[in-house]
Amino acid sequence: MSLQIYLSGKLVPQEQATVSVFDHGLLYGDGVFEGIRVYGGKVFLEKQHIDRLYESALSIRLQIPETPEQMTQAVRDTVAANNITDGYVRLVVTRGAGTLGIDPARTANPQTIIIADSISLYPQELYDNGLALVTASTIRNHSAALSPRIKSLNYLNNIMAKIEGTDAGTVEALMLNHKGEVAECTGDNIFIVKDGVLKTPPPEAGILEGITRNAVMGLAREAGIEVQEAALVRHDIFVADECFLTGTAAEVIAAVSLDGRTIGTGRPGPVTQNLLVRFRELTQT
Ligand code: PMP
Repeated sequence: MSLQIYLSGKLVPQEQATVSVFDHGLLYGDGVFEGIRVYGGKVFLEKQHIDRLYESALSIRLQIPETPEQMTQAVRDTVAANNITDGYVRLVVTRGAGTLGIDPARTANPQTIIIADSISLYPQELYDNGLALVTASTIRNHSAALSPRIKSLNYLNNIMAKIEGTDAGTVEALMLNHKGEVAECTGDNIFIVKDGVLKTPPPEAGILEGITRNAVMGLAREAGIEVQEAALVRHDIFVADECFLTGTAAEVIAAVSLDGRTIGTGRPGPVTQNLLVRFRELTQT
């Protein structure tokens, strides 16, 4: 079935949704994006995603043609046009077509692309039993070079780590920062539970400040669980009671081993399960 794609102001059939080969999003990874879920026909944590998109764009000095209000409406319209009740939205803004040279001043017309489609999730078995992690040798981008808080079209840092995970037979890989601290996984944030306290690396560790992460921290506090943003190292994961990942696609998923070493009991733990239930409730409200 052909999808209706939002492309710079219009909904067009996917066959007609094309951008220039001179687009700097393609040539240089110059652009920003968001991945958003739709639950029960509603755009989940809509404002948070729209805000992060505009912050990413501001940080890379990209002027998005739509206002945030227009963008919010465009996302909703694209979801409705494709009859998506439960699905995934990919929202992309590229720098637009320009000359063969990195200078953004020589581009025009940033392109806004919105794709609303179904979503393929991790297999249920991984939610039931938890997933394995390996530590990638590729460190997370130094935040003084390019802040990982920018959700940019240049994902090579994460892709190289992802390949290491795939080579090792895992669906996710742990990325450390230049100090050797735990940052995040290639497409998910990481949490541990130790003595009843929930801990996750702070933004300064060089992470994408995940919207699922922030929602889960809020849910944990509501549940009376102490939450700390704290620098973590691999040792903290090895001695943790529980470990789990969060992300728009993954939601909340237990991680039960790191580099072949069992974390906690080796099974999804009670705090992880509690937060997953609370998160699923949030998606249905
Ligand atoms: N870290 C990275 C590097 C990501 O790409 C993502 C999103 N896939 C996340 C964390 C999770 O962020 P969110 O909860 O906003 O999806």
